Amino acid sequence: MLKIDTHTHIMPDHLPNWSKEFGYGKFIHLDHHRSGFARMMQGDQFFREIESNCWDPILRIDEYAKYNTQVQVVCTIPVLFSYWAKPEHTRKVSEFLNDHIAMIVEEHPKNYVGLATLPMNDIPMAIIELERAKKIGFRGIQIGSNINGVNLSDEKFLPLWKACEDLSMCVMVHPWEMMGENDMKKYWLPWLVGMPAETTRAICSLIFSGVIEKFPKLRFLFAHAGGSFIPTLGRIEHGFNCRPDLVALDNNVAPSHYLNKFWIDSATHDSDLLRYIMTKQSTKKIALGTDYPFPLGDLHIGQFIEEMQLEQSDLENIMHGSALEWLDLPKSFFS
Ligand SMILES: [Zn+2]
Repeated sequence: MLKIDTHTHIMPDHLPNWSKEFGYGKFIHLDHHRSGFARMMQGDQFFREIESNCWDPILRIDEYAKYNTQVQVVCTIPVLFSYWAKPEHTRKVSEFLNDHIAMIVEEHPKNYVGLATLPMNDIPMAIIELERAKKIGFRGIQIGSNINGVNLSDEKFLPLWKACEDLSMCVMVHPWEMMGENDMKKYWLPWLVGMPAETTRAICSLIFSGVIEKFPKLRFLFAHAGGSFIPTLGRIEHGFNCRPDLVALDNNVAPSHYLNKFWIDSATHDSDLLRYIMTKQSTKKIALGTDYPFPLGDLHIGQFIEEMQLEQSDLENIMHGSALEWLDLPKSFFS
């Protein structure tokens, strides 16, 4: 069965020294301190150790083959978004990362599909890069769950949503710059607590501001099975009903109405939770997604789903049907 992983990260094996080039900031660079491993450095600060499966497209194809998976949708690592920088520098970083992904997709069109990163700190500039990304083969974009603390409900993003809809570019929303991060650095809480909340923040912002209502053809996918949105939808719906004066300011439609109007990936690490989510959201809108190659990812590439004894149609939807619709690609593209 065709398997498409909609949520994977990749980066080039070398990055320019942007801090030196631009004269400020803690842009990410790599320290290849031993063969096959590199330290991601934020200025002088160690961020994360990565292995060659973070940058080597051939090695990745082989690792995926072990789990009978042919296709990886690739995007950058959120720490590289660099939305905090001056917009012209975020644009340069984005162009560099996008050119790298475009090259991999061109060399391995049956194995890789690209999502571009954009200078979201300047929307006119972001739209120019979106248009360029479309021309060089990208199927969509990946953006953060907030942009320098600004929610995705903000009106300044409206022209971008319109452009994505017009160009048929799908949008993956990935949690980053997690709320409360500085108050809970210990125990990896930004990743374990902050990320699911961030994704919920993004979904609620897009629903309550009416963005999903205004752009019905826009294809959003939210990482990590939509974070805590579906598990806490009862509370969110009740809040909408009991305090419309606080919640229904810009859109008077109940949040549950928007189930099945966006995609989520399958990264729950929990078959019981995935089964519950399937009672709310059709498998036509749940796409295999793993967060490979990072340790918090589903690194057996959906094996837990294959062991759930799902109906064949549900399994096919999760493994490829849902992804193909989100990417707007025919199945024959990968045969
Ligand atoms: Zn991820």
